[in-house]
Amino acid sequence: MSKLTQLNLSTGLIRPQDVAHIVQRQGMKQTLEGVMNYILSDYLRWDEFDKSARVAKYVQDGVMELMPIADKQNYSFKYVNCHPHNPKEGLSTVLAFGALVDNSTGKPDVICELTLSTAFRTAAMSALAAKHLARSNSRRMALIGNGCQSEFQALAFHYLLGIEELSIYDIDRAASQKLADNLRHTGMTVEIAESVADAVRDADIVTTVTAEYSRAHILTPDMIRPGMHINAVGGDCPGKTELHPDILSQATVFVEFEPQTRVEGELQNVSPDFPVQHLWQVFQGQTKGREREEQITLFDSVGFALEDFSVLVYMRDTASKLGLMQPISLVPDLADPKDLFSYLGVGQILREAEPVAALP
Ligand code: NAD
Repeated sequence: MSKLTQLNLSTGLIRPQDVAHIVQRQGMKQTLEGVMNYILSDYLRWDEFDKSARVAKYVQDGVMELMPIADKQNYSFKYVNCHPHNPKEGLSTVLAFGALVDNSTGKPDVICELTLSTAFRTAAMSALAAKHLARSNSRRMALIGNGCQSEFQALAFHYLLGIEELSIYDIDRAASQKLADNLRHTGMTVEIAESVADAVRDADIVTTVTAEYSRAHILTPDMIRPGMHINAVGGDCPGKTELHPDILSQATVFVEFEPQTRVEGELQNVSPDFPVQHLWQVFQGQTKGREREEQITLFDSVGFALEDFSVLVYMRDTASKLGLMQPISLVPDLADPKDLFSYLGVGQILREAEPVAALP
C-alpha cells in the first residue's frame, strides 16, 4: 500500500462534471432538497461556527472575495468573484471554488468547484428563507434577472415551495428566452414579461437576481403589494444593490450574518441602525418569520460562508457515496515529514555540481 493511501494524504477533487453527475444521478429536486437540509442543519448549530464577514478585493470591473468559516472539525473557504461584464468576454459573471480542511492537521481534504455549487446553495438558501417568510399559499413568483442563477432559483421555489407560475424579466430578452426554454419540461407556467412592473404585478414572491454594478432601483415602492415576499439576491457588494431604499421601510428585513449584510446588502442604503431580524433565530424558532398575511417580508441575501461550508460538506458526502471523488496529490508525500527538501530529488545533482540552474 502506498504511503499516500496509508496516511490518506490525498485530497478529494470535485470538478464541475462531478457535480453534473451528482445531479444527473439523483435529480434536481433531491439535490436542492439535500443542500437545503445541510444548510438548515448548520444554521441550527449557529453558535458552533467561528464566523467572519468576507474579505474582498474590489477592482474597476468587479470584486474577488474569500469567505472563510470553521466549526470544531473543519475549516472551509470559498473563493468567488462577481464581474458583470464577463459574459461579453464569454465567461460567466460568477466563478468559484473552495476547500474543506481537517482542523486537527490542517490538511486540505476536499477541493471543490463552487460555481455550480454556489448556484445550488444560493437557491436552496432562498427557498429555506421563503419557507419561513412567504405566505404558505404562494404560487406565483416574478424572477427579475434571468442569467446563470435563475434556473436554480426557479427550480428551488418550484420543488421546495410549490411555485407553479413564473413571470420572468431581463433587459436581455435572449436570457429570458433561455430561462423559459430550460424550464419547458418542468410543468411550470412561464411567461416572459415586458417590464419589471409587468412581471411583479400578481406575484406572491419577487426574486431579484440581476448583475449590474450600480445602486439600481430594479424594484420601486409602487410595485410592492401587501403580503409579498421579496428575495433580493443580486445586491451583494458595496455600491451594487437592486431595491429602492423606501421598500425597506415598508418591509421586515431578514439577514444571514448582520455585519456582512450591513456592508454588502440592500441595508447599505439605509441607516446603520435600521432594524433587522436574524434568519438563524427564525430557523431555531427563537423569533417569528412571517407574522401577518399582509406583512411584506424581505430576505436581503448576500451569501454567507456558512452556506458554502454546508454545500462543500454536501458535495463531499454525495460524491463519496456515489464514487465520484477524484483523489489528487496536493501535499507532498514525504518519507520523513521533516525533510521537505528531499522530495525535490535534486540532492545528488547538487552534490555533483553546484549550483544547479535546471535539469536538462
Ligand atoms: P448573470 O450575469 O449570469 O445574470 C445576470 C442577469 O441580470 C443578466 O441576464 C442581465 O442581463 C440581467 N440584468 C442586469 N441588469 C438588469 C436590469 N436592470 N433588469 C433586469 N435584468 C437585468 O449573473 P448571475 O450569476 O445570474 O448572478 C446574478 C447576481 O447574483 C450577481 O450580481 C451575483 O453577484 C449575485 N449572486 C448573489 C448570491 C447571493 O448569495 N446573494 C449568490 C450568487 C450570485
